Amino acid sequence: MQATEANMKEVTQAVWNKRPLVISGPCSAETEEQVIETAVRLQKTGKVDMLRAGIWKPRTRPGSFEGVGTKGLPWMQKAKQLTGLPVTVEVATGKQVEDALHFGIDVLWIGARTTVNPFSVQEVADALRGVDVPVLIKNPINPDLELWIGAVERVAKAGIKQIGLIHRGFSSYGNSEYRNAPMWHLAIEMKRRNPGIMLINDPSHICGRRDILLDVAQKAIDLDYDGLIIESHITPDQAWSDAKQQVTPEVLGEMLSAISWRK
Ligand code: PEP
Ligand code: MN
Repeated sequence: MQATEANMKEVTQAVWNKRPLVISGPCSAETEEQVIETAVRLQKTGKVDMLRAGIWKPRTRPGSFEGVGTKGLPWMQKAKQLTGLPVTVEVATGKQVEDALHFGIDVLWIGARTTVNPFSVQEVADALRGVDVPVLIKNPINPDLELWIGAVERVAKAGIKQIGLIHRGFSSYGNSEYRNAPMWHLAIEMKRRNPGIMLINDPSHICGRRDILLDVAQKAIDLDYDGLIIESHITPDQAWSDAKQQVTPEVLGEMLSAISWRK
């Protein structure tokens, strides 16, 4: 379907229902050129359905790049106009929801550091009241299914009909091959307790490094996940956040070709 501003809701709808659903883009929007070039190169792979980028970055510790803020939203809009890819950004406050919707962001996502905080989730949910926009909800950073379910309930009670789950692994301390332990059983249990809600895997934040992304992505597909969200960057090693886990759009394209998708 040709994407225009007028039919973007329909395009987003079609993408939302596509299986597998593949979302990609940089951890953070850094410059307009970077966002546009990433989007164009992702679209060229022919394997990506939606563009992601962090505009407001909730960093664990101060002093890291905290996102370009609202000025990055028109960059996403422009990337959408050029490629036809629906766009998604993370929102953590009511104001961010308003700003994102004002600039025509098609899908919103709630990040792992927000899902842990019922006050924040409620604030986001309140800002979504009366709005028709799909929302993806990442698991909380700690392995607590009730918090994840609570976030789904708060967003659903605000009237949001289209909700998806993103499994990004759980924070663990000390040496591990993963940045965030996958704890696959928790995601599977979440899916069992929320039948009918799509479950997407985020190998980037589980792995924290690019060399094992494919293994984790393949495992998710073997476990019948509905899709993948994987970070990509035009110059991964120079990325302003999460440099070690990002891959170029072309490497992502090869990775997606290497996956054996279920029939
Ligand atoms: C992200 O998607 O870039 C991000 C901040 O993820 P998470 O909330 O899973 O840490
Ligand atoms: Mn990231």
